[in-house]
Amino acid sequence: MPQHRPEDPPRLGFETLAIRAGQEPDPRTGSVVPAIYATSTYKQDGVGGLREGYEYSRSANPTRTALQECLAALEAGRHGFAFASGLAAEDTLLRTLCKPGDHVVIPDDAYGGTFRQFATVHEPWGLAYSVAPVADVDAVRAAVEPGRTTIVWVETPTNPLLDIADISALAAVAHDAGALLVVDNTFASPYLQQPLTLGADVVVHSTTKYCGGHSDVIGGALVVDDDGLAERLTFMHNAMGAVAGPFDAWLVLRGLRTLAVRMDRHSDNAERVADFLTTRGEVSAVLWPGLPGHPGHDVAAKQMRRFGGMVSFRLAGGEQAAVDVVERCQVFTLAESLGGVESLVEHPGRMTHASVAGSPLEVPGDLVRLSVGIESADDLVADLAQALDDATR
Ligand SMILES: *Cc1c(COP(=O)(O)O)cnc(C)c1O
Repeated sequence: MPQHRPEDPPRLGFETLAIRAGQEPDPRTGSVVPAIYATSTYKQDGVGGLREGYEYSRSANPTRTALQECLAALEAGRHGFAFASGLAAEDTLLRTLCKPGDHVVIPDDAYGGTFRQFATVHEPWGLAYSVAPVADVDAVRAAVEPGRTTIVWVETPTNPLLDIADISALAAVAHDAGALLVVDNTFASPYLQQPLTLGADVVVHSTTKYCGGHSDVIGGALVVDDDGLAERLTFMHNAMGAVAGPFDAWLVLRGLRTLAVRMDRHSDNAERVADFLTTRGEVSAVLWPGLPGHPGHDVAAKQMRRFGGMVSFRLAGGEQAAVDVVERCQVFTLAESLGGVESLVEHPGRMTHASVAGSPLEVPGDLVRLSVGIESADDLVADLAQALDDATR
């Protein structure tokens, strides 16, 4: 099956790989952009005579291969796998790495759907989990059960509280216990952070977010460097079948080509927004790892290129003030999801994280989460200013 192999040296820069990896012009037609191979099956030249390994599109499809090679190159891994959604990638990964009776450590702040999958799908299947704060290395170490824990799972920055996990320190914690470190890199994207280069074993993405970048596709991905792990994932990707279709793979690949420039603008705009929010009395806390006062700032500065486009903040006026602010925004669109070119605002407690209510992952009611887009920063700041002004009346 076609898989990414690292280019011969010299290795190309990130921005070049985003545009070239997996995307060489088509040798037959010269098409500069990879084609959408809308086909389920492939003609065989005699029984078993496959052309370039393509047999059936659940197993492999050239458009998906192009995306997988690009994702692997951008994450500095050797093997990429594209899925129908981020949660499909997570499910396939957990059933590949774990068996009933195993134990995993999960973050105390995470995407609500990830927690729901652990709690309602994998725990009933027999997978035990402990919850630990990812920013506290000692707490994660204490939650690991050597011999039983198969995965330490982190997000960094976390969704929605923007906690920062020290990836290399947690890789050591996981490896000391014979476990693997899985990093959900959705919030950072590979442009801002490459967990495999810091010791992580598996990178997870919801490519729905920054990788796709235009809020027009649902997708997920896994990237690994280890050949043995890749072989097991290749088998399960096909056996479980939650693969990305060619149209969706093409959209995510189109998004990846501009990832670097988008992430730089997202980070610039988030900085403007975070700085503005710190000046407002209605705001009791601004959660953005780029702020020097953020508890994870130093670790983020060490392992991330920039601090990203996600900003959360808390309202002194409590939950009703938070709901009022999100409803009064006009340039920020009130919607779930994140990572697109357009700015979004939401109330995690009642929206993306409603599924963690009553769990150790419950989020504060006074919290607002922003996905800061790439519009004019002045417009974004003005919109938040009017929403906060109204909230005080
Ligand atoms: C959205 C998201 C997911 C789930 O991805 P889907 O593509 O919606 O299935 C997982 N992790 C994080 C951090 C997310 O934001």
